[in-house]
Amino acid sequence: RLKATESREKKIVKIKNTKVGGGYFLFCAGPCAVESRELMKEIASYLKSTPVNLIRGGAFKPRTSPYSFQGLGEEGLKILKEVSEELNIPFVTEVTDTKYVEIVAKYADCFQIGSRNMSSFELLKEVGKTGKPVLLKRGMSATVDEFLNAAEYILNEGNDNIILCERGIRSFDSNFRNILDLNAVAYLKQKTFLPVIVDPSHGTGRREIVEKLSLAAMAAGADGLIVETHPYPEEALSDGFQSLNRKEFLSLSEKVKKFASIF
Ligand code: PEP
Ligand code: MN
Repeated sequence: RLKATESREKKIVKIKNTKVGGGYFLFCAGPCAVESRELMKEIASYLKSTPVNLIRGGAFKPRTSPYSFQGLGEEGLKILKEVSEELNIPFVTEVTDTKYVEIVAKYADCFQIGSRNMSSFELLKEVGKTGKPVLLKRGMSATVDEFLNAAEYILNEGNDNIILCERGIRSFDSNFRNILDLNAVAYLKQKTFLPVIVDPSHGTGRREIVEKLSLAAMAAGADGLIVETHPYPEEALSDGFQSLNRKEFLSLSEKVKKFASIF
């Protein structure tokens, strides 16, 4: 039996002034990648007017192609920190390797473990040891049990500040980058005390259906959403096709305000 499935009071994970789980809703948004200071400032200018309580942005990007934009590295972390302090909203960013744990921990309020690294057990142990919150994404081909076992590596380091994130799994249909597995969300909510959030951006790979799937995720009992947004999606250096533009993001924010129970 796993620690992750023990019957315990629902865990409320605290990321600075933001809480998630046990009735607290996480609304996390930002670009796929931090491309520049100017871009982050422009995004911040519209996130400010929404209930967003966690900023996202990749500085170390795990790109499928080695020829794609790999992220700004430490410079990206500095930009995230600057914007986060200006807005007084904490931020999450991905750590792709054990050798970056220290530098990411120096800046970030929460680690993101990406889908491609869900089974990087040494990385899970290292982030576990820091005691910092960890947003753990489900591997794109991982079963729910494998997902829970990944969380177990972090729990075993004495760190229960874990947020599980369903981000879509591989399917046969090329219309979609992934299929958002809402079964897993409803099921995990019963199985574990850890908060469960949903990423409808990677879960669909299609900007035009992100809002609908966000609402569906809330109906399935998700404790939060993590959404990609970019003011000029067609020019984005990564994942523009699934990023909401300003107008689309503000529309989603209104719905989240209305349907998510607590802020
Ligand atoms: C991301 O959040 O930008 C990302 C790379 O997500 P995933 O690991 O789910 O593909
Ligand atoms: Mn992305």
